[in-house]
Amino acid sequence: MSFAHVGPFWTSVCPICLDPRLLTREHVPQKALGGIEMTTTCKRCNTEFGSRFEVELQDWFDPIPFRRSATRNGKTRTIKPRAGKAPREPNRILELHGLMGAIGEQAGLARTFELDVQRLVATKRLRDAVEQRVVQRAMAESAAYFTLGAVHSVTNLVLRLLLLNRPAAVIINKAWPDSGGLPPLSDDRKAWVTLNRYSVRDLGKAERASSNVFMSRSVEALRVLYRSGAFQDLDERRGMDYHRRRPQSVAHSSPRRKAVEVSSGSMSIAVFGAALEPEADADAVHAIVVDAMEQLRIAMRTIRLLVPKAIRAEGTTYIVS
Ligand SMILES: [Zn+2]
Repeated sequence: MSFAHVGPFWTSVCPICLDPRLLTREHVPQKALGGIEMTTTCKRCNTEFGSRFEVELQDWFDPIPFRRSATRNGKTRTIKPRAGKAPREPNRILELHGLMGAIGEQAGLARTFELDVQRLVATKRLRDAVEQRVVQRAMAESAAYFTLGAVHSVTNLVLRLLLLNRPAAVIINKAWPDSGGLPPLSDDRKAWVTLNRYSVRDLGKAERASSNVFMSRSVEALRVLYRSGAFQDLDERRGMDYHRRRPQSVAHSSPRRKAVEVSSGSMSIAVFGAALEPEADADAVHAIVVDAMEQLRIAMRTIRLLVPKAIRAEGTTYIVS
């Protein structure tokens, strides 16, 4: 992912809350992602949650299992390639690498939208009340959309990790019979799973068959995420949100049917107009998103550390180039 830098801008007030006090310089994007000092925010707006979340993203833009060196706290260390057999399924490894990058991108976009919500909330006195809620909720739902996208991508990452293990792969292919064998780097929507009670159950069966403790722990991290109240709340809200009718839903009927209908040779797409007060829960949606992002962060942190170990336990190296 690349960010278009338009050059730094220095403000005399915090761009989030417009408060001139307690300013600190902030990197855009996050310093860990190669960002440069672009702006200033106040200490209050530069939240602890934000810095925790952003630090976590670093290893997902440039996944640590595939890196030759890693920098932490200013110290760079070289990751020595481990001796091992040649990758049994090199495309699968490449796929895992790409997926981790995509997850970092989705989570980064979620955080970007979440920051915009903060800004809107902090400056609401500048806006008409209805305008405020409409925009704030749309931003919060965009954050929710990318959070959910990252959650489902993490689920697919774990599923594809388990495919490296033969007994687990047998169970997965049986559980998703329409997926065409889940070929590496497939664009087929049927080869893309979501985090739900069925995927948690079937990945659990696969994990138990694998005898790979790191795969088991990866599935456990998904289970914890799935069962968390924060994820359940986010998942429950989807049906009421604009992002439910997300762009990916246009070409097919997933996840909810009837958005697209084909009859007598023509296709119609349902467009959902403004409801009476779709913006009413703007604050609630934001709170749900922040809680869900924290659960996502915990899952990402756990799984990131397990991926290279799980790969290595299969006797496969993850050296690229
Ligand atoms: Zn501020």
